[in-house]
Amino acid sequence: MCRVYVGEIVLSTSRRFQLVDITGRVEDIVSKSGVRNGMCLVYAPHATAAIIANEHEPGLMDDILDEVRRLFPPNEPWRHNRIDDNAHAHLGSAIIGASRIFPVINGRLVRGTWQNIFLVEMDGPRSRRRVVVEVMGAG
Ligand code: ZN
Repeated sequence: MCRVYVGEIVLSTSRRFQLVDITGRVEDIVSKSGVRNGMCLVYAPHATAAIIANEHEPGLMDDILDEVRRLFPPNEPWRHNRIDDNAHAHLGSAIIGASRIFPVINGRLVRGTWQNIFLVEMDGPRSRRRVVVEVMGAG
């Protein structure tokens, strides 16, 4: 039987640049979905955040955030900053991407040992960030 299951993760962030590990919450939604084989879309409906998959190692997490700051520096004279102070975060979201897709095989989300799923906050702190998780496939 074909199933489509939608879950949502709501979280808050405490820093301007921050990685929030949402792996466990995504995997809980996949378990609840009842989908055996299909795929899982992890999507942040935000123009100033992104979704990535990589290793949950504190040094690497800081390296990733440093690189995001280097690639999209907040203090450049971006035109969008005339009306809002977060052009760097829009650029990061546009280029890194607001979603990732994972295979679901035998009822489990497939990821590498060193691939945790993170929301990339680039315009925090925010009291409410959402991540939509849609699991589709055969149950
Ligand atoms: Zn803006």
